[in-house]
Amino acid sequence: MTIILGLEGTAWNLSAALVSEERVIYEAESTYKPEYGGIHPREAAQHHASELKNVVARALRGADKEKEGFSLDIIDAIAFSQGPGMGPCLRTVATAARALSISLKIPLIGVNHCVAHIEIGRWQCGTKDPVVLYVSGANSQVLAYRADRYRILGETLDIGIGNALDKFARYLRLSHPGGPKIEELASKGTKYVYMPYVVKGMDLSFSGLTTAAKDAFDLHLEEKADICYSFQETAFAMLTEVTERAMSHCGKDDMLLAGGVGANRRLQQMLQTMCHDREARFYVPEAKYLKDNGAMIAYLGLLMLKSGDTTPIEKSEVNPNYRPDEVEVTWRDVE
Ligand code: AMP
Ligand code: MG
Repeated sequence: MTIILGLEGTAWNLSAALVSEERVIYEAESTYKPEYGGIHPREAAQHHASELKNVVARALRGADKEKEGFSLDIIDAIAFSQGPGMGPCLRTVATAARALSISLKIPLIGVNHCVAHIEIGRWQCGTKDPVVLYVSGANSQVLAYRADRYRILGETLDIGIGNALDKFARYLRLSHPGGPKIEELASKGTKYVYMPYVVKGMDLSFSGLTTAAKDAFDLHLEEKADICYSFQETAFAMLTEVTERAMSHCGKDDMLLAGGVGANRRLQQMLQTMCHDREARFYVPEAKYLKDNGAMIAYLGLLMLKSGDTTPIEKSEVNPNYRPDEVEVTWRDVE
């Protein structure tokens, strides 16, 4: 059995998990909660620095309680999120990962956070070759695997859908994260208010939508719930349109949802309907694997270790703009 310790801390959630070939053994986390406003990168990094020791210790203790006798020395490698993410957060977690790798004399594996979202979804849902819609705070991308890479077929040209929802929620004086609160309000909306629907080829734009929603709110002409409802209907229809075109173009009949915004039931419903209409299969992992988690980092680390893909210390610098298509996929069978 191979056991990997995975460390995730690209933004506000710090998480450590132990994963083997068979299962996620244990996961522990600590979430930074801004007192007001959005995520402050330096404050989030300070949170991670002060919580790291506890979170790793809790992951090991939790695993130990399962009576398999876990301690640091049974770990085969350390995997960490090398990017994309907030620079100060990434650097804090990478420093801890390097220190563990050196002191335990085990390999270090720098993983791409987006690719980790995809791989945990494929593993948990048992889908082989899906078109992926990855929707999180900062990212919104449609991806598919071809010739050793996850190709980005479409993506946001400005902000991620999660950030768009969070920004509008802040405007409504709702606390971070705003996505679930907007979902709740939207479920009570009934009237569609005009919102800009911006799809350019395979790419998307959400910042105009946020402005339009703020304007509608300022004018006091519309109910809050109707604005949230219209915001969601518009943004999610845009995402569904691009995802469907990607499936049609690639001729793939599986679709996988990934990232924190994937928890939204209305988004799931729209994608499900689209897949049903084209006789395709729709997959969504459990919510704990949609949001940022250490298990996905450990799992991708395991796949990479098995294909001999480790990261020497001198190549372990973080990359806040690390794109998934920069990663050569060494662990998948040939098409
Ligand atoms: P991630 O960056 O993958 O951890 O995802 C975080 C983002 O997901 C934040 O922008 C949240 O507002 C958003 N989010 C979480 N739950 C929901 C939901 N139910 N509906 C919409 N957005 C959500
Ligand atoms: Mg994420």
